[in-house]
Amino acid sequence: MWVEDWTPRAACKSASPDQLFVRGAEQNKAKQVCQGCPVRTECLAEALDNQIEWGVWGGMTERERRALLRRRPNASWRQVLETARTQTPGQQAPAPVRAIRSA
Ligand code: SF4
Repeated sequence: MWVEDWTPRAACKSASPDQLFVRGAEQNKAKQVCQGCPVRTECLAEALDNQIEWGVWGGMTERERRALLRRRPNASWRQVLETARTQTPGQQAPAPVRAIRSA
């Protein structure tokens, strides 16, 4: 089920913004906070559909999100990610990973 108001469930809600809005290689370390986040898919869709350029969202760095946007510039990422999750219910975080592979 898609969580419309996902921010209260964010694993990072008590983290400092400085922890997620870092630059370069530090983002790979920062995205560890996203592992197991119950709203990772919703967070990633928000970032991709709104082309948010900065920080770690949905367990992806800026560079990783840019690569997805280049591959499917007109995609509705909410739809892509929601479909990926629906097709394999019960699997936790990998919806973004599956979407990347099929993009
Ligand atoms: S996926 Fe990461 S950035 Fe997004 S809400 Fe969860 S912990 Fe925060």
